[in-house]
Amino acid sequence: MEQLALIKQKGFDLQKCIAFLQQSNKLVTVENSVNAHYELAGVAREFEGKQAVLFNQVAGYDYPVFTGLYSNRNALAEIFGCPVKELPFLFSEAVAAWQKDPIAPVVLDRGPATEAVMDGVDLGRLPVPIHALGDGGPYLDCSVVIAKDPDTGVRNLSIHRMMVTGPQRMTMLMDTGRHLRDYYERAERRGQPLEITISNGIDPSVYIAAVVPGSAAPIDTDELGIASALLGRSVELVRSRTVDVEGVANAQFIIEAEILPHVREEEGPFAEVAGYYGKQDKRWVVNVKSISHRKAPIFQTLLPGKEVFNSVGLMGEANIFNLVSRQVPGITGVHLTHGGGGFYHAVVQIKKVYEGTQRNAILAAMAAFPSLKQVIVVDDDVDIYNAEDVEWAMCTRFNPETDTILVTKAFGHELNPVTKNGLTAKIGFDATAPYPIPKEYERVKFQAVDITKYQFK
Ligand code: MN
Repeated sequence: MEQLALIKQKGFDLQKCIAFLQQSNKLVTVENSVNAHYELAGVAREFEGKQAVLFNQVAGYDYPVFTGLYSNRNALAEIFGCPVKELPFLFSEAVAAWQKDPIAPVVLDRGPATEAVMDGVDLGRLPVPIHALGDGGPYLDCSVVIAKDPDTGVRNLSIHRMMVTGPQRMTMLMDTGRHLRDYYERAERRGQPLEITISNGIDPSVYIAAVVPGSAAPIDTDELGIASALLGRSVELVRSRTVDVEGVANAQFIIEAEILPHVREEEGPFAEVAGYYGKQDKRWVVNVKSISHRKAPIFQTLLPGKEVFNSVGLMGEANIFNLVSRQVPGITGVHLTHGGGGFYHAVVQIKKVYEGTQRNAILAAMAAFPSLKQVIVVDDDVDIYNAEDVEWAMCTRFNPETDTILVTKAFGHELNPVTKNGLTAKIGFDATAPYPIPKEYERVKFQAVDITKYQFK
Protein backbone atom coordinates (compact mmCIF):
# COMPACT_ATOMS: atom_id res chain seq x y z
CA MET A 1 0.00 0.00 0.00
CA GLU A 2 1.23 3.46 -0.79
CA GLN A 3 2.42 5.37 2.27
CA LEU A 4 0.11 8.27 3.12
CA ALA A 5 1.86 11.66 2.84
CA LEU A 6 3.01 12.86 6.27
CA ILE A 7 0.48 15.69 6.25
CA LYS A 8 -2.44 13.27 5.80
CA GLN A 9 -1.39 11.05 8.70
CA LYS A 10 -3.36 11.16 11.94
CA GLY A 11 -1.71 13.13 14.72
CA PHE A 12 0.40 15.14 12.24
CA ASP A 13 2.14 17.94 14.14
CA LEU A 14 5.46 19.77 14.49
CA GLN A 15 7.03 16.85 16.40
CA LYS A 16 6.17 14.56 13.45
CA CYS A 17 7.81 17.04 11.05
CA ILE A 18 10.96 17.17 13.19
CA ALA A 19 11.12 13.35 13.38
CA PHE A 20 10.76 13.16 9.58
CA LEU A 21 13.56 15.72 9.06
CA GLN A 22 15.79 13.75 11.42
CA GLN A 23 15.17 10.42 9.64
CA SER A 24 15.88 11.92 6.26
CA ASN A 25 19.09 13.71 7.28
CA LYS A 26 17.54 17.12 6.94
CA LEU A 27 18.02 18.10 10.59
CA VAL A 28 21.07 18.97 12.67
CA THR A 29 20.76 18.83 16.45
CA VAL A 30 22.95 21.22 18.43
CA GLU A 31 23.94 19.74 21.78
CA ASN A 32 26.03 22.69 23.03
CA SER A 33 24.30 25.22 25.20
CA VAL A 34 23.64 28.30 23.06
CA ASN A 35 22.67 31.84 23.95
CA ALA A 36 19.17 32.75 22.69
CA HIS A 37 20.47 36.24 22.07
CA TYR A 38 22.27 36.42 18.69
CA GLU A 39 24.21 33.13 19.00
CA LEU A 40 21.27 30.83 18.23
CA ALA A 41 20.40 32.72 15.04
CA GLY A 42 24.09 32.90 14.13
CA VAL A 43 24.32 29.10 14.24
CA ALA A 44 20.99 28.66 12.40
CA ARG A 45 22.23 31.00 9.67
CA GLU A 46 25.10 28.60 8.88
CA PHE A 47 22.53 25.93 7.95
CA GLU A 48 20.00 28.21 6.25
CA GLY A 49 18.54 26.67 3.10
CA LYS A 50 20.25 23.34 3.79
CA GLN A 51 19.09 21.76 7.04
CA ALA A 52 16.67 22.52 9.85
CA VAL A 53 18.23 23.01 13.28
CA LEU A 54 17.12 21.82 16.71
CA PHE A 55 18.78 23.51 19.69
CA ASN A 56 18.39 21.13 22.62
CA GLN A 57 19.97 23.42 25.18
CA VAL A 58 19.22 27.11 25.24
CA ALA A 59 21.05 28.73 28.15
CA GLY A 60 18.67 29.74 30.93
CA TYR A 61 15.55 28.13 29.41
CA ASP A 62 13.70 24.85 29.91
CA TYR A 63 12.61 24.37 26.30
CA PRO A 64 14.39 23.51 23.03
CA VAL A 65 14.19 25.79 20.00
CA PHE A 66 13.56 24.57 16.45
CA THR A 67 14.14 26.50 13.24
CA GLY A 68 14.36 25.83 9.50
CA LEU A 69 11.20 23.82 8.74
CA TYR A 70 10.67 25.98 5.63
CA SER A 71 14.28 26.58 4.75
CA ASN A 72 14.26 23.92 2.04
CA ARG A 73 11.43 23.36 -0.44
CA ASN A 74 12.40 19.74 -1.02
CA ALA A 75 11.69 18.85 2.62
CA LEU A 76 8.37 20.66 2.45
CA ALA A 77 7.46 18.82 -0.75
CA GLU A 78 8.12 15.47 0.93
CA ILE A 79 5.97 16.43 3.93
CA PHE A 80 3.13 17.35 1.54
CA GLY A 81 3.80 14.27 -0.59
CA CYS A 82 4.24 15.95 -3.98
CA PRO A 83 7.07 16.87 -6.38
CA VAL A 84 8.69 20.18 -5.42
CA LYS A 85 7.58 22.02 -8.58
CA GLU A 86 3.99 20.97 -7.89
CA LEU A 87 3.90 22.61 -4.43
CA PRO A 88 2.45 25.97 -5.54
CA PHE A 89 -0.23 24.10 -7.50
CA LEU A 90 -1.05 21.88 -4.52
CA PHE A 91 -1.52 25.02 -2.43
CA SER A 92 -3.58 26.81 -5.07
CA GLU A 93 -5.80 23.73 -5.42
CA ALA A 94 -6.32 23.72 -1.64
CA VAL A 95 -7.33 27.38 -1.79
CA ALA A 96 -9.74 26.66 -4.66
CA ALA A 97 -11.24 23.65 -2.84
CA TRP A 98 -11.71 25.78 0.29
CA GLN A 99 -13.34 28.62 -1.67
CA LYS A 100 -15.81 26.16 -3.17
CA ASP A 101 -16.55 24.01 -0.15
CA PRO A 102 -15.00 25.15 3.15
CA ILE A 103 -14.50 22.57 5.92
CA ALA A 104 -15.26 24.06 9.36
CA PRO A 105 -12.70 23.57 12.14
CA VAL A 106 -13.45 21.39 15.16
CA VAL A 107 -13.31 23.17 18.53
CA LEU A 108 -12.08 21.01 21.43
CA ASP A 109 -12.15 21.71 25.16
CA ARG A 110 -8.56 20.61 25.54
CA GLY A 111 -5.71 19.59 23.27
CA PRO A 112 -1.97 18.95 23.34
CA ALA A 113 -1.28 22.70 23.53
CA THR A 114 -3.23 23.02 26.79
CA GLU A 115 -1.67 20.05 28.62
CA ALA A 116 0.03 22.50 31.00
CA VAL A 117 -0.75 26.07 32.06
CA MET A 118 2.14 28.29 33.11
CA ASP A 119 1.94 29.42 36.75
CA GLY A 120 1.82 33.18 36.55
CA VAL A 121 2.28 34.73 33.12
CA ASP A 122 5.90 35.26 32.19
CA LEU A 123 7.06 35.54 28.58
CA GLY A 124 10.60 35.53 29.98
CA ARG A 125 10.30 31.77 30.45
CA LEU A 126 9.92 31.19 26.69
CA PRO A 127 13.21 30.87 24.77
CA VAL A 128 12.42 33.74 22.39
CA PRO A 129 15.58 34.56 20.39
CA ILE A 130 17.05 37.90 19.48
CA HIS A 131 17.84 37.11 15.85
CA ALA A 132 19.91 39.73 14.04
CA LEU A 133 22.47 42.17 15.39
CA GLY A 134 20.49 45.41 15.56
CA ASP A 135 17.10 43.86 16.40
CA GLY A 136 15.21 45.78 19.10
CA GLY A 137 14.60 42.72 21.30
CA PRO A 138 13.49 39.08 21.37
CA TYR A 139 10.96 38.37 18.62
CA LEU A 140 8.19 35.88 17.95
CA ASP A 141 8.24 35.69 14.15
CA CYS A 142 6.38 32.58 13.01
CA SER A 143 3.55 32.32 15.53
CA VAL A 144 0.00 32.40 14.22
CA VAL A 145 -2.39 35.06 15.48
CA ILE A 146 -6.09 34.16 15.54
CA ALA A 147 -8.74 36.84 16.08
CA LYS A 148 -12.47 37.23 15.45
CA ASP A 149 -14.08 40.00 13.43
CA PRO A 150 -15.72 42.27 16.06
CA ASP A 151 -18.83 42.59 13.85
CA THR A 152 -19.23 39.23 12.13
CA GLY A 153 -17.22 36.86 14.36
CA VAL A 154 -15.36 35.49 11.28
CA ARG A 155 -11.92 34.19 12.29
CA ASN A 156 -8.71 35.56 10.87
CA LEU A 157 -5.40 33.77 10.78
CA SER A 158 -2.16 35.69 10.22
CA ILE A 159 1.49 35.99 11.21
CA HIS A 160 2.92 39.18 12.68
CA ARG A 161 6.29 40.01 14.19
CA MET A 162 6.01 40.55 17.96
CA MET A 163 8.71 41.95 20.22
CA VAL A 164 8.77 40.89 23.87
CA THR A 165 8.96 44.04 26.02
CA GLY A 166 7.90 42.71 29.46
CA PRO A 167 6.74 39.57 31.28
CA GLN A 168 3.19 40.11 29.98
CA ARG A 169 3.79 42.64 27.24
CA MET A 170 4.75 42.73 23.58
CA THR A 171 4.63 45.26 20.78
CA MET A 172 3.63 44.16 17.29
CA LEU A 173 3.40 45.24 13.65
CA MET A 174 0.11 45.25 11.75
CA ASP A 175 0.72 46.38 8.15
CA THR A 176 -1.87 48.51 6.36
CA GLY A 177 -4.43 46.33 4.64
CA ARG A 178 -4.04 43.34 6.94
CA HIS A 179 -7.35 41.92 8.13
CA LEU A 180 -6.19 41.85 11.76
CA ARG A 181 -5.61 45.58 11.59
CA ASP A 182 -9.11 46.11 10.21
CA TYR A 183 -10.57 44.05 13.09
CA TYR A 184 -8.46 45.98 15.60
CA GLU A 185 -9.42 49.41 14.27
CA ARG A 186 -13.12 48.61 14.55
CA ALA A 187 -12.65 47.33 18.14
CA GLU A 188 -10.53 50.35 19.03
CA ARG A 189 -13.18 52.79 17.78
CA ARG A 190 -15.50 51.25 20.40
CA GLY A 191 -12.75 51.61 23.02
CA GLN A 192 -12.40 47.82 23.20
CA PRO A 193 -9.30 45.59 23.13
CA LEU A 194 -9.11 42.96 20.37
CA GLU A 195 -8.75 39.48 21.85
CA ILE A 196 -6.26 37.16 20.17
CA THR A 197 -4.48 33.86 20.60
CA ILE A 198 -0.88 33.39 19.51
CA SER A 199 -0.04 29.77 18.64
CA ASN A 200 3.64 28.89 18.42
CA GLY A 201 5.00 25.70 16.89
CA ILE A 202 2.22 24.71 14.52
CA ASP A 203 2.20 22.24 11.64
CA PRO A 204 2.71 23.48 8.04
CA SER A 205 -0.98 23.22 7.06
CA VAL A 206 -1.90 25.99 9.49
CA TYR A 207 1.23 27.98 8.69
CA ILE A 208 0.52 27.89 4.94
CA ALA A 209 -3.13 28.88 5.55
CA ALA A 210 -1.94 31.85 7.62
CA VAL A 211 0.22 33.21 4.80
CA VAL A 212 -2.45 33.09 2.08
CA PRO A 213 -2.69 36.65 0.73
CA GLY A 214 -5.84 38.69 1.29
CA SER A 215 -6.59 38.65 -2.45
CA ALA A 216 -7.24 34.87 -2.21
CA ALA A 217 -8.89 34.93 1.23
CA PRO A 218 -11.15 37.99 1.58
CA ILE A 219 -11.96 39.48 5.00
CA ASP A 220 -15.34 37.73 5.29
CA THR A 221 -13.79 34.24 5.01
CA ASP A 222 -12.01 32.10 7.60
CA GLU A 223 -8.69 31.02 6.07
CA LEU A 224 -8.32 28.26 8.67
CA GLY A 225 -10.41 26.22 6.23
CA ILE A 226 -7.40 26.17 3.87
CA ALA A 227 -5.51 24.18 6.53
CA SER A 228 -8.41 21.71 6.62
CA ALA A 229 -8.35 21.45 2.82
CA LEU A 230 -4.61 20.64 2.93
CA LEU A 231 -5.06 18.09 5.74
CA GLY A 232 -8.13 16.52 4.14
CA ARG A 233 -9.91 16.78 7.50
CA SER A 234 -11.03 19.47 9.96
CA VAL A 235 -8.23 21.38 11.64
CA GLU A 236 -8.53 21.19 15.44
CA LEU A 237 -8.78 24.27 17.64
CA VAL A 238 -8.89 24.45 21.39
CA ARG A 239 -10.94 26.78 23.60
CA SER A 240 -9.07 29.43 25.59
CA ARG A 241 -9.30 30.13 29.34
CA THR A 242 -9.26 33.93 29.29
CA VAL A 243 -10.34 35.06 25.81
CA ASP A 244 -13.19 34.20 23.45
CA VAL A 245 -10.85 33.11 20.64
CA GLU A 246 -9.51 29.60 20.09
CA GLY A 247 -5.88 28.53 19.69
CA VAL A 248 -4.41 25.78 17.48
CA ALA A 249 -4.86 22.48 19.34
CA ASN A 250 -1.61 20.85 18.19
CA ALA A 251 0.59 23.94 18.82
CA GLN A 252 3.52 23.89 21.24
CA PHE A 253 2.52 27.04 23.11
CA ILE A 254 -0.68 29.12 23.09
CA ILE A 255 -0.48 32.68 24.35
CA GLU A 256 -3.90 34.18 25.18
CA ALA A 257 -3.81 37.95 24.86
CA GLU A 258 -5.46 41.20 23.80
CA ILE A 259 -4.30 44.10 21.65
CA LEU A 260 -4.93 47.21 23.74
CA PRO A 261 -6.96 50.13 22.35
CA HIS A 262 -5.33 53.58 22.13
CA VAL A 263 -1.93 52.38 23.38
CA ARG A 264 1.24 52.53 21.28
CA GLU A 265 4.76 51.66 22.41
CA GLU A 266 8.15 51.31 20.74
CA GLU A 267 8.53 48.30 18.41
CA GLY A 268 11.57 47.43 16.30
CA PRO A 269 13.99 47.53 14.68
CA PHE A 270 13.63 44.01 13.26
CA ALA A 271 15.60 42.25 10.54
CA GLU A 272 13.01 41.77 7.81
CA VAL A 273 12.79 39.46 4.84
CA ALA A 274 13.78 42.24 2.43
CA GLY A 275 17.25 42.06 4.01
CA TYR A 276 16.90 45.41 5.80
CA TYR A 277 15.85 46.39 9.29
CA GLY A 278 12.21 47.38 9.68
CA LYS A 279 12.31 50.76 11.44
CA GLN A 280 11.51 51.35 15.09
CA ASP A 281 8.26 53.22 15.72
CA LYS A 282 5.40 53.45 18.21
CA ARG A 283 3.16 50.48 17.43
CA TRP A 284 0.37 48.25 18.80
CA VAL A 285 0.64 46.71 22.27
CA VAL A 286 -0.21 43.13 23.25
CA ASN A 287 -1.18 42.36 26.85
CA VAL A 288 -0.72 38.66 27.66
CA LYS A 289 -3.30 37.01 29.94
CA SER A 290 -2.36 33.33 29.97
CA ILE A 291 0.22 30.93 28.51
CA SER A 292 -0.42 27.21 28.05
CA HIS A 293 1.85 24.61 26.51
CA ARG A 294 2.47 20.94 25.84
CA LYS A 295 4.18 18.81 28.47
CA ALA A 296 7.35 18.84 26.36
CA PRO A 297 7.02 21.83 24.01
CA ILE A 298 9.53 22.92 21.37
CA PHE A 299 9.63 26.65 20.67
CA GLN A 300 9.65 27.42 16.95
CA THR A 301 11.33 30.38 15.33
CA LEU A 302 12.54 31.26 11.84
CA LEU A 303 15.25 33.34 10.27
CA PRO A 304 13.86 36.14 8.14
CA GLY A 305 15.30 34.80 4.87
CA LYS A 306 14.96 31.57 2.93
CA GLU A 307 12.28 30.22 5.27
CA VAL A 308 10.04 33.11 4.39
CA PHE A 309 10.81 32.94 0.65
CA ASN A 310 9.92 29.27 0.68
CA SER A 311 6.67 29.55 2.62
CA VAL A 312 5.20 33.00 1.98
CA GLY A 313 6.80 32.92 -1.49
CA LEU A 314 5.21 29.58 -2.35
CA MET A 315 1.76 30.77 -1.34
CA GLY A 316 2.31 33.98 -3.27
CA GLU A 317 3.30 31.96 -6.36
CA ALA A 318 0.15 29.88 -6.12
CA ASN A 319 -1.99 32.96 -5.75
CA ILE A 320 -0.38 34.87 -8.62
CA PHE A 321 -0.65 31.77 -10.82
CA ASN A 322 -4.39 31.49 -10.11
CA LEU A 323 -5.23 35.15 -10.54
CA VAL A 324 -3.11 35.71 -13.67
CA SER A 325 -4.40 32.48 -15.26
CA ARG A 326 -7.94 33.81 -14.92
CA GLN A 327 -7.05 36.84 -17.06
CA VAL A 328 -4.37 35.58 -19.42
CA PRO A 329 -4.25 32.27 -21.35
CA GLY A 330 -1.15 30.07 -21.42
CA ILE A 331 0.43 30.74 -18.00
CA THR A 332 2.56 27.69 -17.14
CA GLY A 333 4.47 28.78 -14.01
CA VAL A 334 5.29 31.56 -11.54
CA HIS A 335 8.35 31.86 -9.32
CA LEU A 336 8.98 34.48 -6.64
CA THR A 337 12.76 34.56 -6.56
CA HIS A 338 14.98 34.45 -3.47
CA GLY A 339 16.84 37.52 -4.66
CA GLY A 340 13.50 39.33 -4.63
CA GLY A 341 12.94 38.27 -1.02
CA GLY A 342 9.97 36.14 -2.07
CA PHE A 343 7.99 39.38 -2.40
CA TYR A 344 9.37 41.71 -5.00
CA HIS A 345 10.34 39.80 -8.12
CA ALA A 346 8.15 37.35 -10.04
CA VAL A 347 9.28 35.34 -13.04
CA VAL A 348 6.20 34.37 -15.03
CA GLN A 349 6.35 31.58 -17.61
CA ILE A 350 3.98 31.55 -20.55
CA LYS A 351 3.27 29.34 -23.55
CA LYS A 352 2.16 32.01 -25.94
CA VAL A 353 -0.77 31.27 -28.23
CA TYR A 354 -0.79 34.77 -29.67
CA GLU A 355 1.39 37.84 -29.41
CA GLY A 356 0.84 40.36 -26.63
CA THR A 357 -0.50 38.05 -23.92
CA GLN A 358 2.89 38.15 -22.21
CA ARG A 359 2.53 41.90 -21.67
CA ASN A 360 -0.96 41.43 -20.22
CA ALA A 361 0.59 38.80 -17.90
CA ILE A 362 3.01 41.44 -16.55
CA LEU A 363 0.17 43.83 -15.73
CA ALA A 364 -2.02 41.06 -14.27
CA ALA A 365 0.82 39.87 -12.00
CA MET A 366 1.42 43.40 -10.71
CA ALA A 367 -2.27 43.74 -9.91
CA ALA A 368 -2.51 40.27 -8.35
CA PHE A 369 0.36 40.79 -5.89
CA PRO A 370 0.82 44.47 -4.97
CA SER A 371 4.22 43.89 -3.30
CA LEU A 372 5.78 43.07 -6.69
CA LYS A 373 8.33 45.55 -8.00
CA GLN A 374 9.61 43.59 -10.94
CA VAL A 375 8.11 41.02 -13.30
CA ILE A 376 10.04 39.12 -15.95
CA VAL A 377 7.99 37.08 -18.38
CA VAL A 378 9.68 34.20 -20.22
CA ASP A 379 8.71 31.45 -22.66
CA ASP A 380 8.10 27.88 -21.50
CA ASP A 381 11.55 26.71 -22.65
CA VAL A 382 13.13 28.76 -19.83
CA ASP A 383 13.62 27.29 -16.32
CA ILE A 384 12.05 29.88 -14.02
CA TYR A 385 13.74 28.36 -10.94
CA ASN A 386 17.18 28.88 -12.48
CA ALA A 387 18.41 32.49 -12.26
CA GLU A 388 21.04 31.81 -14.92
CA ASP A 389 18.44 30.62 -17.40
CA VAL A 390 16.24 33.66 -16.72
CA GLU A 391 19.28 35.89 -17.25
CA TRP A 392 19.85 34.15 -20.58
CA ALA A 393 16.31 35.04 -21.66
CA MET A 394 16.82 38.63 -20.53
CA CYS A 395 20.07 38.90 -22.47
CA THR A 396 18.86 37.31 -25.70
CA ARG A 397 15.09 37.86 -25.98
CA PHE A 398 14.53 41.15 -24.19
CA ASN A 399 15.02 44.41 -26.07
CA PRO A 400 15.22 47.30 -23.52
CA GLU A 401 13.86 49.78 -26.05
CA THR A 402 10.64 47.96 -26.87
CA ASP A 403 10.15 45.32 -24.16
CA THR A 404 10.03 47.39 -20.96
CA ILE A 405 6.81 48.30 -19.16
CA LEU A 406 7.22 51.01 -16.55
CA VAL A 407 4.38 51.75 -14.13
CA THR A 408 4.96 54.79 -11.95
CA LYS A 409 3.54 55.73 -8.54
CA ALA A 410 1.87 52.40 -7.82
CA PHE A 411 1.12 50.97 -4.37
CA GLY A 412 4.13 49.05 -3.09
CA HIS A 413 5.46 47.19 -0.06
CA GLU A 414 6.26 49.42 2.89
CA LEU A 415 9.25 47.36 4.05
CA ASN A 416 11.03 48.01 0.76
CA PRO A 417 13.23 51.09 1.27
CA VAL A 418 12.56 52.45 -2.24
CA THR A 419 8.83 52.63 -1.44
CA LYS A 420 8.02 56.18 -0.29
CA ASN A 421 4.64 57.02 1.28
CA GLY A 422 3.44 53.61 0.10
CA LEU A 423 4.29 54.36 -3.55
CA THR A 424 6.90 52.92 -5.86
CA ALA A 425 7.49 52.43 -9.57
CA LYS A 426 7.20 48.93 -10.99
CA ILE A 427 8.94 47.45 -13.98
CA GLY A 428 8.05 44.61 -16.29
CA PHE A 429 10.46 42.95 -18.70
CA ASP A 430 9.14 41.02 -21.68
CA ALA A 431 11.88 38.42 -22.20
CA THR A 432 9.85 36.25 -24.54
CA ALA A 433 10.73 35.55 -28.15
CA PRO A 434 8.30 36.84 -30.82
CA TYR A 435 5.38 34.52 -31.63
CA PRO A 436 5.50 32.29 -33.59
CA ILE A 437 9.14 31.72 -32.56
CA PRO A 438 11.40 32.71 -35.52
CA LYS A 439 14.28 30.42 -36.48
CA GLU A 440 16.94 32.66 -34.88
CA TYR A 441 15.26 32.33 -31.45
CA GLU A 442 15.25 28.55 -31.49
CA ARG A 443 17.15 27.19 -28.49
CA VAL A 444 20.10 24.84 -28.92
CA LYS A 445 19.09 21.29 -28.04
CA PHE A 446 21.12 18.14 -27.40
CA GLN A 447 20.09 14.54 -27.48
CA ALA A 448 18.46 13.37 -24.25
CA VAL A 449 20.25 10.37 -22.71
CA ASP A 450 19.70 8.13 -19.70
CA ILE A 451 22.86 8.88 -17.74
CA THR A 452 22.37 5.91 -15.41
CA LYS A 453 23.13 3.53 -18.33
CA TYR A 454 26.73 4.72 -18.63
CA GLN A 455 29.79 3.66 -16.75
CA PHE A 456 32.18 6.31 -15.54
CA LYS A 457 35.44 6.26 -13.66
MN1 MN B 1 -7.86 37.07 6.51
